[in-house]
Amino acid sequence: MFKHMTALPPDPLLGIAAAFKADSNPKKVDLGVGVYKTEDGKTPILTSVQKALQILSNTEDSKSYIQARGNQAFLDGMEKLVLGAGNALLDSGRVESVQCPGGTGSLRIGFELIKRGNPNAKVWVSGPTWANHVAVIKAAGLETAEYPYYDKANNQLKADEMLEALAQLGPNDVVLLHGCCHNPTGEDLTPELWTKISDLAVEKGFLPFIDIAYQGFGVDLETDVAGVRELLSKVPEALIATSCSKNFGLYRERTGLLTSISETSVLAGAALSHMLNIAREIYSMPPSYGGATVGILLADEALTAEWKAELAGMCARMIDLRALLVNKIHERGVEEDFSFINRQKGMFTFLGITPEQVKAIRDEYAIYMAGSSRINIAGVSSSNVDYLADALAAILK
Ligand code: PLP
Repeated sequence: MFKHMTALPPDPLLGIAAAFKADSNPKKVDLGVGVYKTEDGKTPILTSVQKALQILSNTEDSKSYIQARGNQAFLDGMEKLVLGAGNALLDSGRVESVQCPGGTGSLRIGFELIKRGNPNAKVWVSGPTWANHVAVIKAAGLETAEYPYYDKANNQLKADEMLEALAQLGPNDVVLLHGCCHNPTGEDLTPELWTKISDLAVEKGFLPFIDIAYQGFGVDLETDVAGVRELLSKVPEALIATSCSKNFGLYRERTGLLTSISETSVLAGAALSHMLNIAREIYSMPPSYGGATVGILLADEALTAEWKAELAGMCARMIDLRALLVNKIHERGVEEDFSFINRQKGMFTFLGITPEQVKAIRDEYAIYMAGSSRINIAGVSSSNVDYLADALAAILK
């Protein structure tokens, strides 16, 4: 069966992580993998999440299966978090969610659902997008294409080109949008662009599929999804894949949900039955631990307030690090303008340096980043920022 199988090349980002680990340079800096880190380079369990986990371990009395659609408190709490507590959609009967293994699992179930609805659908992703998007879409058997998004040479959105491309689409098309904190560029849609894209979706009939993996990492929990909420208030149908990996720090617990918005409650029921059926065919039931933890946290006012404060702290730290890095680079007399880093949101930014410069900074300074020059801002700290700015200034000269 497997005689003719040859090994696949390693995932480039995981390769960078392995090379970083093996590097003995005491000054090495990891700006690669997309995981939040504190000032001392750790990814600890949030205190609010730890308290919820404690409640769970004190109260959980069975390891029997949970219901197929997932933990109800989790689903209710997360729908409110994404849509907004007073959103009329919540009582419309048009919204259905299922708990899935992480944002990736949610995306996969979403694309499988699209495949069942329209096997000829074409999925448009931003150029560039998160490295795994295209693979997940293709694994579901759907065709992909790219819409213009980011102008690397000028460090800004390709707004006009994007709108022109989306205006050509129709009901057989799906447009994958990053809800906030675009990965890998950090460059988000402006409120005006959200309005224009919402209007185009209504006019042209394409399906918006929104990937939300960083709610609360950009500005705050509400502002980050204002554009998403506007879009959802206008369109008849949409899909949303939400991840709890980053904002709850639950990475390894594989916690996320897929939400479908349908035109009517009857269609919403049909969509739900298919989401459950697809999940049944792949992994049967969702894992319990992460969803149960978030469910406990979001149902408890004090824990929710504590979590929001911790999340705001992570967000503020990344905003401060952006400003610090830009100042340190400019202080060194670098001619290029890096102030775009301050405008960008979330955990990522493209530095805009060439692949040769990415290699040079790694070989000469043990500073590791993705080949595209995407950096994880949370990997910067007050103890490595001078070293980083010195290295950048040296390779840019
Ligand atoms: N979507 C985007 C844009 C991401 O950056 C990520 C993770 O990096 C995900 C989805 C998937 O997250 P998860 O780890 O929950 O599967």
